Amino acid sequence: MKILVINAGSSSLKYQLFNMENTSVMARGSIERIGEPQGILTHHNCIPGQEKKIIQEQEIKSHKLGMHLAADLIIDQNTGVIDNIKHIDAIGHRVVQGGETFESAVLIDTKVKQAIKDNSPLAPLHNPMNLVGIIEAEELFPGIPNIAVFDTEFHRTLPPKAFLYALPYEFYTKFKVRKYGFHGTSHKYVSEKTAKLMGKDIDKINLITIHLGNGCSICAVEKGECRDTSMGMTPLAGIMMGTRSGDIDPAIIGYLLEQTGMTIKELDIVLNKKSGLKGICGMNDMRDIHEASAKGNTKAFLAIEMFCYQVKKYIGAYTAVLGHVDAIVFTAGVGENDQIIRAKVCENLSFSGIHLDLKKNKQKPSKPFYLHSQDSRVQVWVIPTNEELQIAKEVVQVLK
Ligand code: ADP
Repeated sequence: MKILVINAGSSSLKYQLFNMENTSVMARGSIERIGEPQGILTHHNCIPGQEKKIIQEQEIKSHKLGMHLAADLIIDQNTGVIDNIKHIDAIGHRVVQGGETFESAVLIDTKVKQAIKDNSPLAPLHNPMNLVGIIEAEELFPGIPNIAVFDTEFHRTLPPKAFLYALPYEFYTKFKVRKYGFHGTSHKYVSEKTAKLMGKDIDKINLITIHLGNGCSICAVEKGECRDTSMGMTPLAGIMMGTRSGDIDPAIIGYLLEQTGMTIKELDIVLNKKSGLKGICGMNDMRDIHEASAKGNTKAFLAIEMFCYQVKKYIGAYTAVLGHVDAIVFTAGVGENDQIIRAKVCENLSFSGIHLDLKKNKQKPSKPFYLHSQDSRVQVWVIPTNEELQIAKEVVQVLK
């Protein structure tokens, strides 16, 4: 069975074609910095004997264009991975916000698309892009079933005391205002992988999973079930991110509307696209921020300090939520690659049983590794996330 997975994110589009007989990757690629002058397209043909890598720097104006480029690279009678779309059994789409409408992966039809659109106000950076991925896939791969896998699914196990906001209760019943949580496929994937690598059953261990990419979220995972998560009703909440503010005092919104004369929409753009690391130092890629900080840019230094401080606070909070923690797990772009951030986050956490081995922390993450020292009560892991494989697995379940 061949499953194509499309992950149309806020500023990127990633795809992988899996042969699910052995979960091997036939092709994978990413289109990053969509909408910026220097977009980067990377495509790998991974079939043994046909390996090929294409890297192109070009402006990729929209997700729609990205989907067309990806389809051309996957299906081409001369150079592509497969020569006919009929060889694809199904397409899995990452959809960020399922609201309370969807509890598990679902076959996409007109009603599902409408529900994804209806849930867009809850995830304005993501659901519209997810929908573009779905609509383009339907056009580019006619007749192939499309299946939506929701980021919110893993968080269905949050108890009301964790998912409710202290607002009038009818805001929840009437308007569905509650914490939903995101990055669910990533947290689920790394939780299961960590348990496997620790040689433990997932239902016997507690984990804190830390997803630090452009978007960032942290979960308290008790025996494989999510008990709390840092993101909220939307992916804007929690720790500061590349361009998103994370948690702020809600009174700031009204105050700024009055002080600046901005509209709600304008302020929303500021909170989603001009805040977080970018708001503090003008940059949102952690590699650029480190480079600037090393050259003495004090705002870049401050952005790093703030980011690590906020992650550290969640580790403390979720240690209290779980009572006992077996391991903390770093994943996603920053979590997997950035030894400086990992070391800073774990600094002075020995009271909670976390001790890093700074030498181990320096490893490159081609595969999972642990970085705790021998005397660390809590294990510390870097697990490269694989949201695409997790989605493909769930697509197979739906097809069955
Ligand atoms: P997304 O949330 O879009 O899926 P990723 O998980 O791919 O994001 O993470 C992207 C971010 O990871 C980049 O913006 C950059 O800040 C960070 N990143 C990637 N590689 C490195 C690296 N080698 N060192 C530090 N940060 C990195």
